[in-house]
Amino acid sequence: MLEFRLYRLSADWVISPGESPRRFGSVLLYRDRVLAVGEDSSSARVVDKLRASLPEHADIVVEEHAYPGCAILPGLINAHTHLELSGWNRGFKEGQSLWEWIPTVVAFRRSADYRPAEAISRGIEECVAGGACGIVDIAQPGWPAWWVETFLPDRRLPSGPRPRVLSLLECIAVREDTVGELISRLDLHRWACTLLGLDAGITPHAPYTVPPTVLRQLVSYANARALPVAIHLAETAEEQELLQHQTGPFHKMFADLGINTRSLFGSGTSWAEYIAILSESSPLLIVHGNHLTSLERSLLQRSARRAAVVFCPRTYRRFGHAGYPLDEYLAAGIPVILGTDSRATNPDLSILRELQTVRELFPHMPGSEILAMATSQPAKVLGWQGWGYLRDGASAQITVVKLEDRIAERDPVEAVLAPQATVRAVWIDGQLAYSADNEN
Ligand SMILES: [Zn+2]
Repeated sequence: MLEFRLYRLSADWVISPGESPRRFGSVLLYRDRVLAVGEDSSSARVVDKLRASLPEHADIVVEEHAYPGCAILPGLINAHTHLELSGWNRGFKEGQSLWEWIPTVVAFRRSADYRPAEAISRGIEECVAGGACGIVDIAQPGWPAWWVETFLPDRRLPSGPRPRVLSLLECIAVREDTVGELISRLDLHRWACTLLGLDAGITPHAPYTVPPTVLRQLVSYANARALPVAIHLAETAEEQELLQHQTGPFHKMFADLGINTRSLFGSGTSWAEYIAILSESSPLLIVHGNHLTSLERSLLQRSARRAAVVFCPRTYRRFGHAGYPLDEYLAAGIPVILGTDSRATNPDLSILRELQTVRELFPHMPGSEILAMATSQPAKVLGWQGWGYLRDGASAQITVVKLEDRIAERDPVEAVLAPQATVRAVWIDGQLAYSADNEN
């Protein structure tokens, strides 16, 4: 007997961006596709129809997974993290500034505590336990050896479901004469991504580590190959001081590292210049964007082909920033999507917690808009077909969230965004990848 195994997930609520939440709904999965969303009766009809079309000696088995007190959501996307830092054990001083923190990261990477293969594997597990089916990771040049070590024990891929990973190779090149070496690394990166089943992209690290002359060459490499591009931009106001006047704390940080920034940035270099160089990249992820002015936001909106700003709420709060221009980005028509950033600035890699932090920081914002920041918006910007919604034919990526009953009665979307909500299960490509039952 030939057997086709389908999975029916049912819960108190099924929530898909842009639609009213459905009460007591279910989602029917077969392999990596959603076959039906809605009442149990609609998935029963789909099963009957499929069964009727089967030849003799074939049958359908529907495995039921009931999640009482929960909401079924499209698989969440964590749009910014650094998996290799998941083994971070250096603590974090409250009120520490970015230029004080960077040297501690450099010291960590040079220490015996830095075990990237182990950290990547643990980081992926943490992202999934935090509700993510998709991850945008910033990879270090030391890879792909670590990833091969992680994913190819005995040169075989592990059989369990793995989240979709867009791996963006971090490029740091303060001098133009190192670009050739970076390009070779990028070629290797693309090859390794293909081997490991990852999406490849590139991240010129930040304006203070990639001068405009270098950025132009990296961007033209990426654009010629239609690679996604991300950059850490406008994370602190002091970044601008370095670009424009070659003074301030970043200048001092480089001087301490023996690098003279005067030769790297012409006076008057600005974030606007960076945005102009990056505008042809698609998709383009502006990570942080904490300090872009209205002029720079409108330049980004007008010039970029397909861009989003990646907000990392808990990291933002941890560095003591206040007043993130979320409303301003949305008013300018620039999508804002969410990331956890790394374990070096965040206590965990839960994207659900980031959604809940946005609710805390922006009490006036409609819950549906917040939820879209980790579902439909990143799916659209990244061009991940079938992600971000729950509808017939969607990609079978599901995050199940346990809700607090009383809040859910009032508003199930708000119940997802309430701090009491936790990740109950995660399904990736139609397979159970995480279940809170198996914890403890
Ligand atoms: Zn980052």
